[in-house]
Amino acid sequence: MKLRVIGPWGAYPKAGEATAGYLLEAGRNRVLLDCGSGVLAALQRYIGLPELTHAFLSHKHYDHMADLGCLQYACLIDTDLSRRELPLQVLLAEEHEGDWTVPLMRGSAANGVSVKETVWLEDGVRLSFFRTDHDAYCLGVRVEAQGKVLVYTADTRYDESLIPHLSGADLLITEASFYADFDAGRYGHMTSAEAAKLASAAGVKRLMLSHLPHFGEIERLKAEAAAVYSGDIVLAELGMLAEL
Ligand SMILES: [Zn+2]
Ligand SMILES: [Zn+2]
Repeated sequence: MKLRVIGPWGAYPKAGEATAGYLLEAGRNRVLLDCGSGVLAALQRYIGLPELTHAFLSHKHYDHMADLGCLQYACLIDTDLSRRELPLQVLLAEEHEGDWTVPLMRGSAANGVSVKETVWLEDGVRLSFFRTDHDAYCLGVRVEAQGKVLVYTADTRYDESLIPHLSGADLLITEASFYADFDAGRYGHMTSAEAAKLASAAGVKRLMLSHLPHFGEIERLKAEAAAVYSGDIVLAELGMLAEL
């Protein structure tokens, strides 16, 4: 598996960058994990849009789905130009479907997923979903392929019930929206130290802090996490590639 960071920012993108978005390559699958603001432009530095097979939307906050509409226009155009053979499979929580704000268009197909469900992709790639503690209905995803495990928490408060879903991950991508001395739960998010506490309790091998804040010195997030968690810690940045 390979994981490329497309969007490391929470809320809104830094100039020329993007909010939540990660490109997962696993076997023949090319899966976009979240499709935030700026993701579509940044993504094309690394992959042609017709190559995308799936897009997973964790929840319907704009910093995770703002570019979904334009991604579907691309699917429509690529389908008409015979550059895309199969519809893009859009995986989103079935609890969303009734009030999802972007209607799904030809060239893409919606597949509701629930926390009870396991989705198998090509080449034995397994996706399982779990509910996080956030203001909107939000799903995290655990990806298992070729004996490796990657987990993406999307947005969440600190919640120890997440630990079994993160357990033993080779790479955990988690949000670190605030610095350690902040009451992040009030905003539905976690601090660097809370993210690290979960990683430590779950025996995670590598921790990527993402969904980063637009204030303060973000290197401080890493130092705060290192005080709690002894494994490798990286701060997500545009284009960063993690191989599992
Ligand atoms: Zn967010
Ligand atoms: Zn959110």
